[in-house]
Amino acid sequence: MKLLVAVKRVIDYNVKVRVKADETGVETANVKMSMNPFDEIAVEEAVRLLEAGTATEVIAVSMGVQQCQETIRTALAMGADRGIHVKTDEELQPLAVAKLLAKIVEKESPDVVILGKQAIDDDSNQTGQMLAGLLGWSQGTFASKIDLAEGKANVTREVDGGLETLAINVPAIITTDLRLNEPRYASLPNIMKAKKKPIEEMSPEDLGVDVAPRLTTLKVTEPAKREGGVKVESVAELVDKLKNEAGVI
Ligand code: AMP
Repeated sequence: MKLLVAVKRVIDYNVKVRVKADETGVETANVKMSMNPFDEIAVEEAVRLLEAGTATEVIAVSMGVQQCQETIRTALAMGADRGIHVKTDEELQPLAVAKLLAKIVEKESPDVVILGKQAIDDDSNQTGQMLAGLLGWSQGTFASKIDLAEGKANVTREVDGGLETLAINVPAIITTDLRLNEPRYASLPNIMKAKKKPIEEMSPEDLGVDVAPRLTTLKVTEPAKREGGVKVESVAELVDKLKNEAGVI
């Protein structure tokens, strides 16, 4: 079984994100970037399937600026076999990414595409679903467990009040949730080995995809600052404040 994994380069989850002064977006200059955490989980799952002999090849795909190659190298160091980089300096929205992935699926014919459930920068939670729609494939989203066998997959999802297990046909799109696995750290020898693994580079034009944004961001602002709290002396004072100041009771 051939697996394609989508890996996005995003601001590292430990970084405190700052809004640009002109409110057009967030500051990315001189900010640490890493692989989207849900995509690390996707790579880990694919590599485990490779190690178990269920998968025969894992291809990591990233789209965006030149530095996305670093994200692909991380996936290769974790155990993916080869990479594909769709290089562009344009802003890529989920529909554009889904269209590019659909073209790569056409070329590579994977059995399963694994994506993160959401990118932590845009929080869109759209790409996997759009890709399934474009391809007409089954989808199992927010997977917390994946059982893959020839021709079908059982995908367990955490829903309100319990676990739901879906049986879906392969080829399929699967998106990963937090509890699916704990991604490994790449070892130094594997980081060295990853340098020799191939990364194919192409452009959106090569794939015949118009990536022009369909959505316009009007503005990005900081959340409202929280006001400081006060200590009350008694329950009576608390009740009084809730009633007469906050107006909630
Ligand atoms: P989103 O729909 O933007 O929340 O992203 C969901 C998932 O789509 C991510 O976790 C990635 O697996 C994939 N994805 C989104 N954008 C990109 C990108 N530029 N390159 C590679 N994968 C991406």
